[in-house]
Amino acid sequence: MSGREQLYIAEAFESNWIAPVGPHLTDFEKQIATYLGVDGALAVSSGTAAIHLALRILGVGAGDTVLCSSFTFVASANPIRYVGAEPIFIDADPESWNMSPAALQRSLEDAIQSGNLPKAVIVVHLYGGMADMKKIMDICNRYNIPVIEDAAESLGTTFEGRQSGTFGHFGVFSFNGNKIITTSSGGMLVSNDLVALDKARFLSTQARDEATHYQHSQTGYNYRMSNVLAGIGKAQLEVLDNRVESRRTIFHTYTDSLSSWEEIVFMPELSEVRSNRWLTTITVDHLESDRIVQQLLKSMFEANIEVRPLWKPLHLQPLFSSTKFYSHEEGAEAVCEDLFKKGLCLPSGSNMSVVEQQRVCTVIESVLQSICKESAISIS
Ligand SMILES: *Cc1c(COP(=O)(O)O)cnc(C)c1O
Repeated sequence: MSGREQLYIAEAFESNWIAPVGPHLTDFEKQIATYLGVDGALAVSSGTAAIHLALRILGVGAGDTVLCSSFTFVASANPIRYVGAEPIFIDADPESWNMSPAALQRSLEDAIQSGNLPKAVIVVHLYGGMADMKKIMDICNRYNIPVIEDAAESLGTTFEGRQSGTFGHFGVFSFNGNKIITTSSGGMLVSNDLVALDKARFLSTQARDEATHYQHSQTGYNYRMSNVLAGIGKAQLEVLDNRVESRRTIFHTYTDSLSSWEEIVFMPELSEVRSNRWLTTITVDHLESDRIVQQLLKSMFEANIEVRPLWKPLHLQPLFSSTKFYSHEEGAEAVCEDLFKKGLCLPSGSNMSVVEQQRVCTVIESVLQSICKESAISIS
């Protein structure tokens, strides 16, 4: 927390707005919309809820298909199933680790052939990086398919100076506890389409028709954010830019400390992108990368340092075992499968000290030293 959260929470208590309505909620939505440069925002209970609402507003339903990044957290795709549709997964591009424009293009050519165009594309911006939104938007506009940007991990990231989440028809953000700013749990749906946002607001509050009694003609949800949590969100938004700077500094400390190890490759950043570096992520580039990654996980665990593998691609999840997948290069190994095998997320909290980062690097270097030396001996 940044310091002013208690103040705003107290305001909510004093004014007795302890409900999913109130002045903090209105302020928070306006401030997010202003920060991003979009016309409107709707604060909801989670990022997942925001994706669900976007799909509902776009009229996605039973029998439809939706294209979605494969290299992501399951929450990007679960809402596709909530509305009875089926995902088709798209590989990552090695230049961005995010949606491959080449694979997206091929999937749409196939869809045209079979006469069954997808109803929407969900493009995810992972770990604070961004997909090549110029290419992605060009392709989707050519086929007239609406885009939902899952920007849950990329609040504050820009592409040619424009904020992530503002390129598609809808942008989605998350304020879950692990994100760059948090309301403990929460999310935001943003758009320049204010009519669509009004519909989403209606659906998010149980879809109550205009009448003095309780009347309903559509299935709605209880998805609105509480005014208390919106107070936390306002205080967090005040420190967002500082957090982005901290996370970028943490990233640069890691890259400087490990610069002599060409086996450690950091997540790339497209030249148009300024990443919020939500997490510093690496892949191990070595003949024995599997063994190094396993040893890194083990040694970090023993040193009480939390590291995790990169996202397991969704097309490899048992939940989605029967779904279609388009790889970046036809016939080649999927980029996201390779990233999953060779990748790790490093500790990246905004308040991490240089000493703490050095402790992480020491473990990484000792693992590399032992395995790389060993394999150099066995090769000679
Ligand atoms: C966190 C996250 C979500 C879901 O957000 P919640 O607020 O936890 O529902 C969706 N997509 C991605 C990529 C995420 O990291």
